[in-house]
Amino acid sequence: MNLSRRGFLKLSAAAALTTAFGGLGLAAKPQTAKAAIDRISQLKPEWSRETTSVCCFCAVGCGLIVNTALSGAKRALNVEGDPEHPTNEGALCPKGGSIWQLAESTPRQQKVMYRKPGGTRFEPKTWEWALNEIAKRVKRDRDAAFEVKNAKGQLVNRCENIAHVGSAALDNEECWALQAFMRSLGLTYIEHQARICHSSTVPALAESFGRGCMTNHWLDLKNSDVILMMGSNPAENHPISFKHVTRCKVAGGTLIHVDPRFSRTSAKVDIYAPLRSGTDIAFLGGMINYILENDLAFKEYVVNYTNASFLVGPGYDFKDGMFSGFDPAKRSYDRSKWAFALDAKGVPQRDNTLTNPRSVYQLLKKHYSRYTAKNVSDTTGTPLDKLLEVYKVYSSTGKPDKSGTVMYAMGWTQHTVGVQNIRAMAMVQLLLGNIGVAGGGVNALRGESNVQGATDHALLYNSLPGYLSVPTTTDATLADYLKRTTPVSHDPMSMNWWKNRPKYVASFLKAMYPQAEPGQAYDMLPKLEPGQDGSWLVLFDEMFKGRFKGCFVWGMNPAVGSANAGKTRQALAKLDWMVAVNLFDNESSSFWRGPGVDPAKVKTEVFLLPCATSIEKEGSVTNSGRWMQWRVPGPQPLGESRPDGEIMHQLAQKLQELYKKEGGPFPDALLGLNWAGMTEKGGYSAQATARLINGAYTRDVTVKNPDGTEKTFKAGEQVQSFAALRDDGSTTSGNWIYCGSYVKSDPSGNLGMRHNRSQTPEQAKIALFPNWTWAWPVNRRIMYNRASVDPTGKAYAPQKPVLAWDGKAWSIDVVDGGGAPGSVHPFIMNTHGLGQIYTPGLVDGPFPEHYEPMDCPVASQVFSSVLNTPTVLKFAGEDHSQADPRFPLVCTTYRVTEHWQTGAMTRRMAWLVEAEPQMFCELSEELAAEKGIKNGDKIWVESIRGKLWAIAMVTKRFKPMTVQGKTMHQVGLPWQYGWNAPQNGGDAANLLSPSVGDPNTGIPETKAFMVNVSKA
Ligand code: SF4
Repeated sequence: MNLSRRGFLKLSAAAALTTAFGGLGLAAKPQTAKAAIDRISQLKPEWSRETTSVCCFCAVGCGLIVNTALSGAKRALNVEGDPEHPTNEGALCPKGGSIWQLAESTPRQQKVMYRKPGGTRFEPKTWEWALNEIAKRVKRDRDAAFEVKNAKGQLVNRCENIAHVGSAALDNEECWALQAFMRSLGLTYIEHQARICHSSTVPALAESFGRGCMTNHWLDLKNSDVILMMGSNPAENHPISFKHVTRCKVAGGTLIHVDPRFSRTSAKVDIYAPLRSGTDIAFLGGMINYILENDLAFKEYVVNYTNASFLVGPGYDFKDGMFSGFDPAKRSYDRSKWAFALDAKGVPQRDNTLTNPRSVYQLLKKHYSRYTAKNVSDTTGTPLDKLLEVYKVYSSTGKPDKSGTVMYAMGWTQHTVGVQNIRAMAMVQLLLGNIGVAGGGVNALRGESNVQGATDHALLYNSLPGYLSVPTTTDATLADYLKRTTPVSHDPMSMNWWKNRPKYVASFLKAMYPQAEPGQAYDMLPKLEPGQDGSWLVLFDEMFKGRFKGCFVWGMNPAVGSANAGKTRQALAKLDWMVAVNLFDNESSSFWRGPGVDPAKVKTEVFLLPCATSIEKEGSVTNSGRWMQWRVPGPQPLGESRPDGEIMHQLAQKLQELYKKEGGPFPDALLGLNWAGMTEKGGYSAQATARLINGAYTRDVTVKNPDGTEKTFKAGEQVQSFAALRDDGSTTSGNWIYCGSYVKSDPSGNLGMRHNRSQTPEQAKIALFPNWTWAWPVNRRIMYNRASVDPTGKAYAPQKPVLAWDGKAWSIDVVDGGGAPGSVHPFIMNTHGLGQIYTPGLVDGPFPEHYEPMDCPVASQVFSSVLNTPTVLKFAGEDHSQADPRFPLVCTTYRVTEHWQTGAMTRRMAWLVEAEPQMFCELSEELAAEKGIKNGDKIWVESIRGKLWAIAMVTKRFKPMTVQGKTMHQVGLPWQYGWNAPQNGGDAANLLSPSVGDPNTGIPETKAFMVNVSKA
């Protein structure tokens, strides 16, 4: 279609608003949406300046064009989809299509506000006043509790009476700056959204393949033969991704959806199979059993590229739901029991016939032989015929030239077995040879625009940027830390890429503290005690117990988004002060005036700082497929709002001034932090910070080339790739995985800014778009791609190759590991170089095993006598309902298309609220009849932890299930409502969910808990 710019503008606005009313809203009339179409139709493009940006909502990362007025208030006139962008091709979902309204037509916070202890209202203040007052409080409380050494006399340099949460809504550069700032103060309790949405993804995928990220990317979905969507609802929650899912179907692919609820995704697939929320391991365990029993695995791949042939040492055993090595007193396993049997050189012993009873393959077969279709169906409630149909169709991708992929999200991650849910699928994919290939992979659908980047840049208590672990007190020196954390492999075929860790750590330390040598900079980092857990639920439990004086709540809304939100809200009241940085006042910044709270009794001071929207500032965000995409600023920040980077820099300056003037414990880290590397002309600079994240030479360095010639890199020159980073302090790199993203000293070297659609015919065949922005690592678009070719370099799927070898070099994608075909194992990040079907690295077992959610409808289960995962993260004094007749219904939570996360932004956007105005509870016709509830009735939904009202939505989308021979019902709640907007919109579903977590990462179990419903 040949569209003029003007015509396109009108069409895209109309399309966005049409989809906005495809939602499930109850009683909305599209009045403001009509006004929006009228407004857009009167605009003239020549009045404005055009810039490109990226959607601020989900991590599909759709491209935007922003038109900003050249005169008047110079505000944004319009925001629309970028037709050049390879992912969205001009389309936007209702949220993305409403970004103009978010920036320009909502009750945005435009002034700094302050709520005094016991106060009943916010009062306006100046930035100068607020930053000074916050700095005074931070200093007062930090100085009172700062520990230079712990009780054992070990250096710790930490401050544990102030906490920080946030944010996946920040740009990459802001995330890096924020983690650096908070660590320079000595904070150890640093968390953000990733912990509660996708933290289980990281160890699950890293233990399986080497890196904890989505393996492929959005455009690659079209290359699949079968797409399994399970634990996700992409048609509604990642709507533009569905463009590529649809292309797969049009090309003849088969789509499968497995989900408790029949959703818009289900409506578009070839096979829909229901399952009981919280039983995914049973379902996937059954698939593993089906593949092995029917000999459907891709054997050559399994033998050459996975650890199926490894022999497991004598310490490993499994009996009646328990792995060997369990200590009941500590509720933990001794993982050394699960180690591989090594040969004299320290290399795992192998049996390539896969017949040795101690081989991973045979142990796997034995473990999952219990997962018969009947046992699975009894547990999951999935009808037997549907179960077998899914198994049969998905297993058909185990052929060399076929590929199957999976799209998953919170339906898998937010469980006490979240990590093992994902592990189970990773194992299926390794058995079928679906990793590294076009149309394959395990694709984690990230829900926030930069949750991938915020995780990469380590706004998390337990990691430093680039997935370097946080040091503990056992690591007295940098050398000790490196010795403990750097893996060793004696297999000449294994690249064991983490052997380079010392280079990445030294370069990170030099980026943080350029004046110090790496060893000195290491001493400045705060240290954890061994085994110390600072994850989200623990952080809020500590807050509940009164540990913290103050907390930064940056771009987050824990009063709605946190499991057991009632406890979270009470915890916030234990703080002396809170700094909330946001576009809007939300349920967290206003917790002191929430339902049932007497403001006079709440001592917490609240500083509410208004920040800029995404289109008003510069920086990059990393989408789910690891593309680092740059936003160019459109209008100036509205009113007195400021970019987040500027806020953190200005606060750091205030603190530096105070410490210079008054002194205090260990000011070195704060005063020595590399703000010079993050600023230009005295102010925060995203471009400068991006350059620092990439890294540069700190002095002239001469290196020898393979041909014997030498090359000298000058001090200040950008490092071209992480392969060039060094461990002697001669390079900086704020985050090694982003090294190669900014290769010159000016923005022309910022590869995240590239908007170049060119590609070779082979690249075009699989929609690689290697010149559009930049993907970590080293612009590789499909991870583990070395496994897409056989050991001679021939593509397993010649009709959609990811790599081609011409006898000298690789082409198409950037190969994983260099050298000739067959010279190295393909999973270069894993110590032993192979995909791990068995892993001794997770705290809850080397194989996934079915356990019930902590709140569950049954008193026993069919696979063992162990009901719940033995190492679960739980808290004293919190009860769980298990086969409790008071709470007989399995409840799950989900998102609606028109709202995003806690709804803190979208509940302020009239176009979206019109479509989805109110909290509702979805229930089946059968359950509604049993309870005497009609569609539209106001009902109570109650769990052991709380109660809330909702409007009943009686649908055919939930159906009663048969579990262990009994009828069981499920209900569903959107988790995106909160009491303070819109009026009468309802309150948070998380008031009902439990604060229990996966033992590996602490991700809360917000996707399966028990409730009851009654007519209000
Ligand atoms: S919310 Fe996601 S799918 Fe929708 S426009 Fe934004 S990035 Fe695209």
